[in-house]
Amino acid sequence: TGAPSARRLVLLGATGSIGAQTLEVLARYPGIARLHGLAVGGSRPEVVADQVARHRPERLVVADPARAEAVERAVSLACSAAGITAPPIEAGQQAVVDLAGSLGGQDVVLNAITGSVGLLPTLSALASGARLALANKESLVVGGHLVTDAAAPGQILPVDSEHTAIAQALAGVRPDQVDRLVVTASGGPFRGRTRAELGAVTPEQALAHPTWAMGRVITTNSATLVNKALEVIEACFQFDLPEDRIDVVVHPQSIVHSMATLVDGSTIAQASPPDMRHAIGWALAHPEKLPGLAAALDFSTAQSWTFEPVDEVTFPAISIARAAHREGGGAMAAYNAANEEAVEAFFTGGLSFLGIVEMIRAVLEHPGRPRAELADGVDGVLAVETWARETARILISEGTTKIPGVSTTSS
Ligand code: NAD
Ligand code: MG
Repeated sequence: TGAPSARRLVLLGATGSIGAQTLEVLARYPGIARLHGLAVGGSRPEVVADQVARHRPERLVVADPARAEAVERAVSLACSAAGITAPPIEAGQQAVVDLAGSLGGQDVVLNAITGSVGLLPTLSALASGARLALANKESLVVGGHLVTDAAAPGQILPVDSEHTAIAQALAGVRPDQVDRLVVTASGGPFRGRTRAELGAVTPEQALAHPTWAMGRVITTNSATLVNKALEVIEACFQFDLPEDRIDVVVHPQSIVHSMATLVDGSTIAQASPPDMRHAIGWALAHPEKLPGLAAALDFSTAQSWTFEPVDEVTFPAISIARAAHREGGGAMAAYNAANEEAVEAFFTGGLSFLGIVEMIRAVLEHPGRPRAELADGVDGVLAVETWARETARILISEGTTKIPGVSTTSS
């Protein structure tokens, strides 16, 4: 894997947790791909500048035009200090979509953007024929069949520890031999708590994840179990199974990353210490295996792996998502959009911790919710999204009185 590669890589969301770890993997295994382009939101100009000077992409896109100038300044400083020419900088959401679609069949796009804003870049990458290493689970959850219909068999390789694990467990297994998938969950920082104990949770407490260091939205989603809910839906689309054949089990050690139970009663698990570089390297190099990619388990010391059911009363996020997925018609787009707005409001003090999932429920139960059919395409999904975001913002600004069980302060 040390020889220069003909394969090119576009990395979307380079400055995030997954993005930075992807660049680490690439620097250690230069043979897997040559870095072609980076896309970033633009909120961390110094980090972008350092990444560009170090990894020398040919193209750089800043999604937020208002931040492009600051990024350009930082990049040009860092590049002249390193004695290299700065790449041209493009700005705007359409430029991200264009970069995502600029490669071809033997290349790879890793989408590590946070949120449903990753949907259009995902569709663009799929249309180009490139391999899509997909960390942005939201695009699959929100786009659903639009995404799976656009994908050739095997074109999407999941970069999500659970789905990467299931894909490995299913290697060599035919679809008709699969009975159930078992998605493991760490349980998040509030495992074992009751609803009454979660009334006063602060953003700082929600951000203290026991086993993984990740971006702010996914960390909050791990505390509410919305992340696990999104992952159940992600698994439905990635592995083409109905939600009632996908179980969730709490496994606090985060070592067994997920499992597949086959029709003969055998359960196949993938296990390794929690380290996202494993999932990233797996998706980039597949079907090759990168030697020494991540630390292996050490069985010379005693350890125990435990499994327990999810407390669905304290954490209703998964059952709400299952119902939304069964309904279809853009309900998961509404679920995700309501959650993204609610998480933002939680951080700015407009909503309590328990209010996040109650807000999702309120938006889904709203009598005005539009439906999107598959025939309505991306525009239909985006219309549901826009409606759900606006409705969530209105409900949040109206405060406690309109939604039973929702307190807008964390008292
Ligand atoms: P993060 O918040 O740390 O990073 C997000 C990145 O996206 C940043 O570089 C940001 O600048 C960029 N970005 C934001 N808007 C953009 C836009 N419109 N266009 C281009 N770039 C944009 O997030 P993260 O934790 O790295 O997670 C990224 C995705 O991967 C999420 O969908 C998350 O659910 C998924 N994921 C993350 C982990 C993890 O361990 N962090 C694990 C599994 C799945
Ligand atoms: Mg995951």
